[in-house]
Amino acid sequence: MFKKILIANRGEIACRVAATARRMGVQTVAVYSDADADAQHVQACDEAVHIGGSAPKDSYLRWERVLEAAKATGAQAIHPGYGFLSENDKFAQACAAAGLVFIGPPASAIQAMGLKAESKQLMEKAGVPLVPGYHGSDQDPALLAREADRIGYPVLIKASAGGGGKGMRAVDKAEDFAAALASCKREAINSFGDDAVLVEKYVQRPRHIEIQVFGDTQGNAVYLFERDCSVQRRHQKVLEEAPAPGMPPAMRQQMGEAAVAAARAVNYVGAGTVEFIVEQRPDGTMNFFFMEMNTRLQVEHPVTEAITGLDLVEWQLRVASGEPLPLRQDQLRIHGHAIEARICAENPDKQFLPATGTLHAYQLPDCVRFERGPVRVDSGVREGDAISPFYDSMIAKLIVHGDTREEALARLDQALAAMRVVGVQNNVQFLRHVLASRSFAQADLDTALIQREQAVLFHQEPLGRELAVAGAVAQLLQSERSAAAPAPGSWADPWSRRDGWRAYTPMLRRIDYQFHGEEGAAELRVLHDGALQLRVGETTGVLASSTRADGRIDLQFAGRRVVLGCVRQGETVHLFAPQGATQVLLVDALAHAGEHQSEGGRLTAPMPGKVVSFSVKAGDKVAKGQALAVMEAMKMEHTIAAPADGTVAELLYAPGDQVAEGAELLKLAAS
Ligand code: ADP
Ligand code: ADP
Ligand code: MG
Repeated sequence: MFKKILIANRGEIACRVAATARRMGVQTVAVYSDADADAQHVQACDEAVHIGGSAPKDSYLRWERVLEAAKATGAQAIHPGYGFLSENDKFAQACAAAGLVFIGPPASAIQAMGLKAESKQLMEKAGVPLVPGYHGSDQDPALLAREADRIGYPVLIKASAGGGGKGMRAVDKAEDFAAALASCKREAINSFGDDAVLVEKYVQRPRHIEIQVFGDTQGNAVYLFERDCSVQRRHQKVLEEAPAPGMPPAMRQQMGEAAVAAARAVNYVGAGTVEFIVEQRPDGTMNFFFMEMNTRLQVEHPVTEAITGLDLVEWQLRVASGEPLPLRQDQLRIHGHAIEARICAENPDKQFLPATGTLHAYQLPDCVRFERGPVRVDSGVREGDAISPFYDSMIAKLIVHGDTREEALARLDQALAAMRVVGVQNNVQFLRHVLASRSFAQADLDTALIQREQAVLFHQEPLGRELAVAGAVAQLLQSERSAAAPAPGSWADPWSRRDGWRAYTPMLRRIDYQFHGEEGAAELRVLHDGALQLRVGETTGVLASSTRADGRIDLQFAGRRVVLGCVRQGETVHLFAPQGATQVLLVDALAHAGEHQSEGGRLTAPMPGKVVSFSVKAGDKVAKGQALAVMEAMKMEHTIAAPADGTVAELLYAPGDQVAEGAELLKLAAS
């Protein structure tokens, strides 16, 4: 076994590889970019080497720097993770030339499987079933159009060098073929530097089922069963599970054997995945076709670990150091059911636009990290970390295991409900909606699931306005009570309390809120008996709340009860209820008036971004609510408005400047 390995990756996968290496007594070396100087993967390893700038091409893709780092630290082998250098045959070769072991397949196997068209020609020879299509080298547009006619519409044009869901165009009819081909080729040359395409039958409502394979240097190869990765957005996986629901044992064996044949055809060594597209026939039978082979450890490998009880990274290290596969095919078994959810920094309600920002709160459910267990989390970030625009939007994976699919699904929903992610938009709530959808719950899986269920997946509100605003008000009162609580040994002045307490007079307090883009005003009244009465819209009721030992608020309002986890970020109150999470922005005159009067307005960037323009200059008098500046963040414009009347004292940035979250943009003096 190796004494020391270098992990040429970042994020959750680098942490995950480091965890197994540590358990096996193998030392680890991390590499990192400027943006990742304090990243979790750097701390997860025994040593770390800085290899360059934040953009991947300046660091994680610079393989000469990675090799130098391995040499300098005395690492004997390099684990490439997934993405980055993992499927780069030239890097695998360079490792060998430098006397280092590449923890992955031989360069020749990566190359053979690297191009979708070439690999299909190879698979055809090995007798692996293919989607009807054209994967020749002649790229004459007229020939490709004739091939599309022969295959029959709809067809799919795919960049041969493509990956990550990029470079694909579905075409419904012959008239659209030429334009789709041109646009696919443009994307292919831009993204992959190679515009060769293949054309294949577009399988209707297909399932994506893939087989985990493993080979060793002694010529053994096995399959570790299947994963169903049909739930996708933009051809990228969202939820993955093992085993595939409804898989007949005979078909599992056929697919497994086809995958092993594919691996053997390229003398495969190490972990790999053979992806198949599965056609569901009206009579309920299924046909499977080879799609591509990913010559690396896959993002979703933990579901296979969960059902087989194995550690695939351990297998990778053993095989790379020359040991035979630990188990034979007849020793492998499936236990229970596992599901993985990819937690991504993105906004599902805005076409899954990637999001950036700082993780103001990041709390995980009760779980084990990087190990098998009923709830496992593989995460590459911590509270306080910044999610930068440089890397993939996936920040963590939640993997659950149960005796049955139902049990795993229930456990996953519970674990998602216990996650608290604040500060960066994310898909946690969206994932819960997918789990609750009829199609997912009944295992009616295919790649169009998200589209088919869109009515129940997007723009969902779990609590409703009344309860959400009541929850936010309860949180405000709770934080005011704790702020007003006397320091030990000091005396509290009842007149400076902000919880609505007043001697004798019922007091009316108005709290402006924003909820789902709508503005409103809630009224809070202290009744003579001390109870609080709240009016939100048409609803008036007594607001009763108490704080549990775990910090959550027990709330009762207008005939409903709910238990809420609350996280406050600036004026936004994030509420986490068992039925879902939501946010309410509170603009409380009482809570903020004092601050603005005494120190003038502080105008800070709500998120990292670029200053587009200022509509005022120093010396201008401004009125409350007046637009002062426009910022662009996450491809959207945000207007910064005056929180109170005042005079602009100073502009602190110029249009075009990049600003960090919380940076003060201008100074406003109270007038
Ligand atoms: P998996 O099949 O393991 O789920 P994905 O297709 O989601 O993997 O890709 C895994 C990671 O590698 C993702 O971060 C993705 O962005 C990246 N990736 C995959 N293929 C490419 C490629 N050809 N170019 C750049 N990044 C890629
Ligand atoms: P990538 O390299 O980007 O992962 P794949 O060839 O693996 O590309 O395809 C990605 C996804 O696109 C599949 O999981 C599936 O959802 C869809 N897809 C691929 N080929 C077909 C096809 N012939 N018909 C229908 N959908 C397809
Ligand atoms: Mg794929």
